[in-house]
Amino acid sequence: MIAASATPRVPVVDLAGAVVGTFPVHRIYCVGRNYAEHAREMGAAAPASKAERGVPTFFMKPADAIAVDGKVPYPAATSQLHHEVELVVALGRDANGVVAPEDAEALVFGYGVGLDLTRRDLQAAAKAKGLPWDTAKGFDQSAPLSALLPVDEAGDLSSARIVLEVNGEPRQQSSLDHMLWNVADILYELSLLYALRAGDLVFMGTPAGVGPLLPGDAFHARIDGLPELQGSITAPLR
Ligand code: MN
Repeated sequence: MIAASATPRVPVVDLAGAVVGTFPVHRIYCVGRNYAEHAREMGAAAPASKAERGVPTFFMKPADAIAVDGKVPYPAATSQLHHEVELVVALGRDANGVVAPEDAEALVFGYGVGLDLTRRDLQAAAKAKGLPWDTAKGFDQSAPLSALLPVDEAGDLSSARIVLEVNGEPRQQSSLDHMLWNVADILYELSLLYALRAGDLVFMGTPAGVGPLLPGDAFHARIDGLPELQGSITAPLR
């Protein structure tokens, strides 16, 4: 008989800037198709304007999917690991029910940059059968993440540049003002579905240019004004 003595570890993210400490992660929410160009490259219809955008697509990763040491083993069960560079929002307060867009910023603790790593072959197979994406998105170490910068040190990110380089070559480049739903919009929409809590992270969706990562590849993700994310894909664990 195995004793049920294990205490779950709470995943934590480093802080950047003046505040010393770590940020304990509660949940990881992710936004799908938040840039029209990326929706198109995935073969989906993209809205012509914000007025036609409808409701956002959400999915989740486990809290312990974050990878903060820059070493990401090539995951099991895929031959098509893809990068998606994204703005990451960290919530510092619990929401009290539905969050009006004008009240959303008060919940935000800070920002970072992350990768929503995706087993694209599993996602394509799931989509073809109308099945859920969980195994494509919510796998171990599928969320490499930079340190988090508190919001008062981050400045205005509304039109910040977002860039991902792999082995020194640019793969994804855009600007945060191309997001169909901004941070306030997304926190409002999420709050209609979930109780938002301190410790929640939101991956805000990726611009166009997603593509493969292989063992040995070095990734370097940047959003102007935020801590950078650098790391590499290492050999598979099994
Ligand atoms: Mn994504």
